Amino acid sequence: MPDTAPQASKPIEIWTRARIATMTTDRPYGLIDSGALAREGEKIVWVGESRDRPGDLKSRAREIHDVEGRCITPGLIDCHTHLVYAGNRAGEFEQRLLGATYADIAGQGGGIRATVRATRVARAEELFEQSLPRLRSLMSEGVTAVEIKSGYGLDVETELRMLSVIRRMGETLPVTVVPTYLGAHALPPEFEGKSDAYVDLICTDMIPRIARDRLACAVDAYCETIGFSPAQTERIFQAASDCRMPIRLHAEQFSDQGGAALAARFKALSADHLEYVSEAGVQAMAEAGTVAVLLPGAFYFLRETQVPPIQTFRDKKVPMAVATDCNPGSSPAGSLLLMLNMARTLFRLTPEEALAGATRNAARALRIDKRSGTLETGKNANFVIWDIAHPAELACGIGYRPPRVVYRRGRKVFTSQLTPPQGD
Ligand SMILES: [Zn+2]
Repeated sequence: MPDTAPQASKPIEIWTRARIATMTTDRPYGLIDSGALAREGEKIVWVGESRDRPGDLKSRAREIHDVEGRCITPGLIDCHTHLVYAGNRAGEFEQRLLGATYADIAGQGGGIRATVRATRVARAEELFEQSLPRLRSLMSEGVTAVEIKSGYGLDVETELRMLSVIRRMGETLPVTVVPTYLGAHALPPEFEGKSDAYVDLICTDMIPRIARDRLACAVDAYCETIGFSPAQTERIFQAASDCRMPIRLHAEQFSDQGGAALAARFKALSADHLEYVSEAGVQAMAEAGTVAVLLPGAFYFLRETQVPPIQTFRDKKVPMAVATDCNPGSSPAGSLLLMLNMARTLFRLTPEEALAGATRNAARALRIDKRSGTLETGKNANFVIWDIAHPAELACGIGYRPPRVVYRRGRKVFTSQLTPPQGD
């Protein structure tokens, strides 16, 4: 090409008259009251007050949309789910209504193990088909990125099958899928009484293989009296670190195991649940930059009463994320917006904290914050136009789905417009 040829530029698309919650930290919601946002290809090329918009942007625009004062936020991010699984556990819900606890049910071979049985016998295609509606449900609310954990196989073959299904979901649907390996979710029945031998399998076989083939972005574990001990969790973290894989942890859900501090020692991306975390645990998270992922759906569904120490997270400046924990036993939740509402009502987060928990801080927990989580020049054009006038409304509704249009990497991936009737 001759060097006099003009630089090829992609067409620009602009959205104007928008109230934009950029979710940057310089002001509440990073709010721009009368804003405009422009994208070129997959990226945001400009965002700011409409009156400050550079003149050449308009001349290069292929389309200009008037959003008539509606609110725009970053695409939502659900940073903790177990949404790939087979079967359901509706029967356990009834058992718990009759008085059985989550630990009772787990002790009788139910709980996670029940889902493991169903998942082991499901073919990849069945697993994919059964999981798809759960992912679609999240996407219909403006979710553009989601973390999905393995952990219902607990043997090499099924864990690898789960990870391949998780990967396929991201290849099939217009959503960013971040896979996590959670081999230490529960003890598989064939290892009953031999939990250290199972941890050996995780450390010497599974983690090196998953790291080598890049099948997951992080390693997770369930550190709890009904899960794995802190010593076993530490061995798993060491194996992950040896393979240069980042870690996250289910910590302090029902008791204080010192899991959050242990995770922080390994510079964990996140520690999740945290109802029983100590002040020392929160301090360690603050020093390590570990995100606190709050899961109000599990708190609600298990009728827990101990609330995570929200004020301590605030005082020590630990970023808080909010996620669905979508899973069949303790949080069968298909709505991230409902989780924002629960984070408000049950945990007393402010509406801004709740929204930051499903955007900026969730991106950080998944280590995708360089390209997602806020609306800034250079980041991916992942955003939602909502039928609301102020972002505080997002954490207010119960069962109300206000996204009007969802864009991911500049492309429209969801619209709430009803399809007109096609005739008789
Ligand atoms: Zn979980």
